[in-house]
Amino acid sequence: MLVQHAMSSFVLHGVGVSRGIAIGRAQLVSHATLEVAHYTIAPGATDAEIARFDTAMRETKQELSTLHNAMTAGDAPAEFGAFIDVHWMILNDPTMSEVPRRIIAEQRCNAEWALTQQMNVLVEQFDEIEDPYLRERKADVVQVVERVLKRLMGKPGPIGTPGAEHHTILVAHDLSPADIIQFKQHRFGAFITDLGGVTSHTAIVARSLNVPAVVATHNGRALIRENELLILDGTNHVVIVNPDKSVLAEYRLKQGELELGRAKLRRLKTKAATTLDGHAVELQANIELPGDLAQALDNGAMGIGLFRSEFLFLNREGLPSEDEQFEAYRSVAAGMEGKPVTIRTFDLGADKQKEGLDGLARVAPNPALGLRAVRFCLAEPRLFLTQLRAILRASHYGNVRILIPMLASVAEIDQTLVMIAQAKESLRERSVPFNDDVKVGGMIEIPAAALAISAFLAKLDFLSIGTNDLIQYTLAIDRSDDAVSHLYDPLHPAVLKLIAMAISAANRAQVPIAVCGEMAGEVRLTRLLLGLGLRSLSMHPAHVLGVKQRVLTSEIPAITGIVDRMRRTDDPAKLIALLDKLNA
Ligand code: PEP
Ligand code: MG
Repeated sequence: MLVQHAMSSFVLHGVGVSRGIAIGRAQLVSHATLEVAHYTIAPGATDAEIARFDTAMRETKQELSTLHNAMTAGDAPAEFGAFIDVHWMILNDPTMSEVPRRIIAEQRCNAEWALTQQMNVLVEQFDEIEDPYLRERKADVVQVVERVLKRLMGKPGPIGTPGAEHHTILVAHDLSPADIIQFKQHRFGAFITDLGGVTSHTAIVARSLNVPAVVATHNGRALIRENELLILDGTNHVVIVNPDKSVLAEYRLKQGELELGRAKLRRLKTKAATTLDGHAVELQANIELPGDLAQALDNGAMGIGLFRSEFLFLNREGLPSEDEQFEAYRSVAAGMEGKPVTIRTFDLGADKQKEGLDGLARVAPNPALGLRAVRFCLAEPRLFLTQLRAILRASHYGNVRILIPMLASVAEIDQTLVMIAQAKESLRERSVPFNDDVKVGGMIEIPAAALAISAFLAKLDFLSIGTNDLIQYTLAIDRSDDAVSHLYDPLHPAVLKLIAMAISAANRAQVPIAVCGEMAGEVRLTRLLLGLGLRSLSMHPAHVLGVKQRVLTSEIPAITGIVDRMRRTDDPAKLIALLDKLNA
């Protein structure tokens, strides 16, 4: 939303999904139908990048020949063959096969970027052609480029020069979780997107990069120009475009203060998270890939409370084998040296799609309510068993626990437990070691699970509340739809009641319960969760020390009275007032 436009400086409001301040130059993510990243190639690596481009071109040509043969052998209409011939010609034209190679060499940029730059030039030339038929051929150019891009994006390129992009702020219409994972290799200073919400997986992954981000700016991508100076304030949900000198100086000062605050927090790394009155609180980290482990350890996490294993399935061709998954899980289990490592079985579906899987190939009418997470796993037993065997094998090398996402009913728990027993049996047959006593937990992220929790408590070893989905399903707000992101409200009385209910029931039954949704990392909610009886929180590693600081300055008896009043009211204004009191 554009709020103010004074000279060339203006302010965009959005939703800050990752805190902090970034000051840097805008880099627009190219608008080919596929979003394309732009990064710098290390000086000695341009030949390898050109080779990557050549391979993608060669593979695309092969793909077209196969298609052409299939068309001409069958009884497809002749135009189809002709249409492929046009694509073939475009692909072989030096403007397509040679110019991008030169761009890579001269600009030291990635192949995807070089190709889309050249595509934009060609498309502009087509726009100027008088003949309507020829003018329309620009669509063919775009389609050909997209074919090559798909090949390239299946195989991420070499890593850019470390540090070179530090002060770059990526501006995109939208970024999928898969796009952002690719960016993990590159050091961008911040993100801005037109779409997205606080708990969209894109926002979660952006937080895992530990860079400030503002999403849902609606038209930021159209208003911001390449290389413009930007201040992104993720804490206050704003982007200042072309700031004047005084604003810039003010933000540099703020940035310095934040840095100082972070340095102070670092001193808490090895301190136990205990309240003033002696209650121990377990602070664990959420990770997406084994590479995130270092950040979790660096922030003193006492375990991994959520390993979103589905990220192993994204940005790659084919599926990870049992051995490959085992190695990923084993490395995290061993790296945590006996501390708990909670591996969530893969939660594909909704906004984390993987092409080529049978169950997901169709476009679901409402993916968030569709064949997602455990539902998908139970529908694809072969895939599920492969993952379960890999996790069980890793359990021999550390303190591994299995966490099942999206459970709604007892039947799903029973079926999952049968699958785990089957996976164990096949390992026994292969004489492969595993921990037979591996703990199995379930996520409470569907209101039905919170409301009928006794069955979950009876059948599972531990529970973890996924507040992101619990809020989505309780308030009927699609997490990935920016049009409703303003309605996301962790303090909605209905949400609080469900969370309170789940924590009380688990505590009464003495079944360990944690919160692993984004609420766990929000310092302003720490005392609320402690007051509800929660003693275990798992969050993005970057939030662990801030939450620890809040735990260290909290006193349970002083909190519970206020939290009890929060549980009893349905008045949102009163809830906010009580929360302020809690944090005073
Ligand atoms: C949640 O839903 O709160 C959660 C932790 O899982 P995810 O965000 O991966 O859906
Ligand atoms: Mg979830």
